Amino acid sequence: MMMIIIGAGPIGCFLGGILASNGEDVSIYEEHSCIGKPVQCTGIVTKEIEKIIKLDKRFIVNRVEKVRVYSKNKKIEVPIDDIVLNREKFDKYLANKAKKNGAKIYLNHKFIGIRENKAVFADKKNKIKAVEADYIVGADGPLSDVAKSNNMHGKKKFYFGMQARIKGKFDASCYDVYFGSICPGFFAWILPESKKIARIGVAAKGNTKEIFKKFLSIKGIKDNDIIDSQAGLIPIYKKSVVQKGNVFLVGDAAGQVKATTGGGLVYGLKAAKKLANCILYGLDYSKELKRLNRKLWMHLKIRQMLDKFSDKDYNKLLKKMQNKKIKELFKKYSRDDVKKLVFKAVLSKPSFLWYIKNFIK
Ligand SMILES: Cc1cc2nc3c(=O)[nH]c(=O)nc-3n(C[C@H](O)[C@H](O)[C@H](O)COP(=O)(O)OP(=O)(O)OC[C@H]3O[C@@H](n4cnc5c(N)ncnc54)[C@H](O)[C@@H]3O)c2cc1C
Repeated sequence: MMMIIIGAGPIGCFLGGILASNGEDVSIYEEHSCIGKPVQCTGIVTKEIEKIIKLDKRFIVNRVEKVRVYSKNKKIEVPIDDIVLNREKFDKYLANKAKKNGAKIYLNHKFIGIRENKAVFADKKNKIKAVEADYIVGADGPLSDVAKSNNMHGKKKFYFGMQARIKGKFDASCYDVYFGSICPGFFAWILPESKKIARIGVAAKGNTKEIFKKFLSIKGIKDNDIIDSQAGLIPIYKKSVVQKGNVFLVGDAAGQVKATTGGGLVYGLKAAKKLANCILYGLDYSKELKRLNRKLWMHLKIRQMLDKFSDKDYNKLLKKMQNKKIKELFKKYSRDDVKKLVFKAVLSKPSFLWYIKNFIK
């Protein structure tokens, strides 16, 4: 079977690798001239990723063992075991793996539409090429042209994230997150790559530039400390159409991102694995996504509850989390396993039920 994947990001390349290793004829088309650039990601993932792909030293820059969570007047420390990726190297690793498995990758090919069952591309010189395929997969990120051209985009909403790599002195074992009025509607972060470099960023629905500037100034960061900066869109999950005939969406193109944290790698890779099985064994993609969608829905509900929080509410929440049992749960059950985490939290501290009642509303 001929498979066309649009987008050589991590999700498209991972999917292409699985399909090619099963003997399918896979072509991945990427609009940029190089894989993994521009980077638009902080690169933090839970160890859940190890259940999906084998980790390789080549793309890991750090491991963090605790997160300091800040509200306006409170700070707690929670043990975690998270991995910090070099996104450029991670994407390249997955692309090389796909190629080794037999997938072909075409750079400088921008997908522009589907005509008569053929995917149409424009190359760098604007030369048009139409390619026939049995399956077309849009793994082309938050603004998916595949979704738009096939009426699958719906009314998507986004966060806008801004981040800079900063020179300074950092605790390499610890990640900081800041909630409340310092970054309304989402959170700000400081994620160390090493003792000398950290990724500092914010995400928000509007005014991100202002919030980011203010956060850097609060943290005493000067222009000279900035190594480079990045920005990008984070889709807010919404149950939507992910298949129309032989056209499928996966990863950010399908909005498979946790609304609590903006993390899209783990769930996107999981969805890609499911999609590969659907294509290979003729399963129903929407049905196969049901469990994953339930988790994404829970993240969305938690996000909607947090969106209503004032600084006082965050202070109260952190106070409740200042509990040995609750902290241990965060280490044991990753935030990717949100259902178990919430359930166990309520069992350990029944007063969390108040939050459950609110987030189901
Ligand atoms: C600021 C920021 C921080 C983030 N931090 C994290 C984090 O810490 N952890 C985490 O898990 N997630 C994070 N995310 C989300 C994560 O980056 C995405 O979920 C992930 O990149 C999704 O991968 P993807 O392959 O679906 O899409 P993408 O990585 O967006 O890849 C899509 C590819 O498709 C290509 N493309 C697009 N349109 C076309 C076209 N018309 N023709 C051909 N090619 C096309 C693009 O060039 C790109 O290479 C962050 C996002 C942002 C913006």
